[in-house]
Amino acid sequence: MRDATQQPATISDEAARQIRAHAEDCCPSECCGLVFESGVPFDGGVRRCTNVQERLHREEPESFPRTARHAFRLADADQLLLARSFDGEHPARVLYHSHINCAARFSAADLAGASIDGEPLYPDLLHLVVAVQDGVAGAMALFSVTRVGATEIWRSA
Ligand SMILES: [Zn+2]
Repeated sequence: MRDATQQPATISDEAARQIRAHAEDCCPSECCGLVFESGVPFDGGVRRCTNVQERLHREEPESFPRTARHAFRLADADQLLLARSFDGEHPARVLYHSHINCAARFSAADLAGASIDGEPLYPDLLHLVVAVQDGVAGAMALFSVTRVGATEIWRSA
């Protein structure tokens, strides 16, 4: 049986390093990005995406009450890249985002964002949350989302 503390293939040490660096660069906003199956011409399979939550909040505060400090939303181009990747040779395996001064857990809002009417939007996609505490990225947790909810499948300190 696989050791639960062992790094899953989708999150290499290099990918984890890049995700933490991205999370720190974006702080105090949440970052978001994708990890593709290896072999794609992104650094280590990690692609930094654009979090458009702040702009949406500014333009339509009633529809988007939360700022980028407490939420993320992929830019349209990134959404398209994600959706199309499943038809290609190097599908996206992980969608990651950060939590600012908050634990690496999958929130109710995260679950709502990953599902439509309770069905996972992308059943093969895993979700990674990286916690940023006082500007420093630390704990990471990886979740799978099914119609019954999110299940933590891996965690690193
Ligand atoms: Zn979240």
